[in-house]
Amino acid sequence: MKGCARKKRVRIGVTDVFPLNGLRVWVAGHTGMVGSAICRRLDSEDCDVLTVPRRQVDLRRQADTEAWMAAERPDVVFLAAARVGGIQANDTRPAEFIYENLAIETNVIQAAKTIGVKKLLFLGSSCIYPRLAPQPMAEDALLAGPLEPTNQSYAIAKIAGIEMCRAYRRQFGCDFISAMPTNLYGAHDNFDLESSHVAPALMVKAHAAKQAGAPEMMVWGSGKPRRELMFVDDLADALVHLMKVYSDEPHVNVGTGQDVSIAELAQLICDVVGFSGRLEYDASKPDGAPRKLLDVHRLRSLGWTSKTPLHDGLAQTYDFYLRQVAGSGTTTG
Ligand code: GDP
Repeated sequence: MKGCARKKRVRIGVTDVFPLNGLRVWVAGHTGMVGSAICRRLDSEDCDVLTVPRRQVDLRRQADTEAWMAAERPDVVFLAAARVGGIQANDTRPAEFIYENLAIETNVIQAAKTIGVKKLLFLGSSCIYPRLAPQPMAEDALLAGPLEPTNQSYAIAKIAGIEMCRAYRRQFGCDFISAMPTNLYGAHDNFDLESSHVAPALMVKAHAAKQAGAPEMMVWGSGKPRRELMFVDDLADALVHLMKVYSDEPHVNVGTGQDVSIAELAQLICDVVGFSGRLEYDASKPDGAPRKLLDVHRLRSLGWTSKTPLHDGLAQTYDFYLRQVAGSGTTTG
C-alpha cells in the first residue's frame, strides 16, 4: 500500500535527527497566529516553505486537499490550520468547532499518509485536558476525566487528531507527532472581542479605555482562574525543535511552566498599554476551567525551554496591535 515514507533517522537524544535542510515544508494555516509564527521561524531554516491561501484550497474539502497535496508533495507538514476561538466562541458555536477541526485534520492527515509525507506535526491545545486535571497537567492526564463543558466540541475534535497521529504511526509507520500548546498570544492573534482569547481581548479593552479616558474596564468572570500564557514565537521555535528531535507516539506539552491569575494578567496588560483605571469583573461571563498549567518536563528533557517573559511578549503584541490592528477597522473593540 502507498503510504508514509521513512526518512533515515538515528534516535540519539536531542541531537538534530531530522534536519529540515532541502525539504519542502508545508505550513497549513499560514495566515493564523500559529502558522504565521512558524513561517517566521522557518525563515532561518534551509528549507522550502509551502503555503496555500484558503480561497485556493479549503482544507475542509477532502478532494481539494488531496489534489493540492498530491500536486505539491510536501515532505513535511506543520498542521496549524484549525478553527480556534476564546471561551465565548467555543461556548456558543460548538458545531463549527467540531466539524471544521475534524474535517481539516482528517483530510490533511489521510492525504499526508497517501502521498508519503516524511513527517507531520499536529497541534492539540491545553484546553482539551480534563477540566479538573491535576496541575500542572502531565501528558498522561489526557482522557483521564470529564472535559471542560464550554469547549467540549473543540476538545473532542482535537483529541481525535492526536489519536489519528498515534493510529497512523501504529498501523502505517507514519512519522506523525503531536504537540499540546498552552494558551497563546502574539502577532496575528484574533483581536475581535466576541471570539478572541483573554490576552488580546484585554489588550483591546485596555487600549479603548485609555483612548476614551474611561475610569474602568470590564474583565469577564471572577478574575480568579489561572492561565499559562506563551508568546507564539516561542511556540514556533519549540515546534521546529520537536519536528527535528522528536519522533514518538505520545504528544508533548509546550508551555512556559508558569501561570498567572486572570486578575494579574489584566493588571499586567493595563501596565503594558498604559491604562491606569479600575478593573471591574463581569460575573455573568463564564470563568471556564479554574486552572490550566502544563507540566513541561518532557519538553525540557528534549532540550527546549521558553524564553520570552510574559511582560516582553505582551509589549511586542501590543506593538503589533498598534501597528496593524488599531484604527484599521478590523476589530470590534
Ligand atoms: P479559555 O482559556 O479556554 O478559558 O479561554 P479564554 O482565553 O477566552 O478565557 C480565559 C479566561 O479569561 C476565562 O476565565 C475568561 O472568563 C477570562 N476573561 C476575562 N476577560 C476576558 C475577555 O475579555 N475575553 C475573554 N475571551 N476572556 C476573558
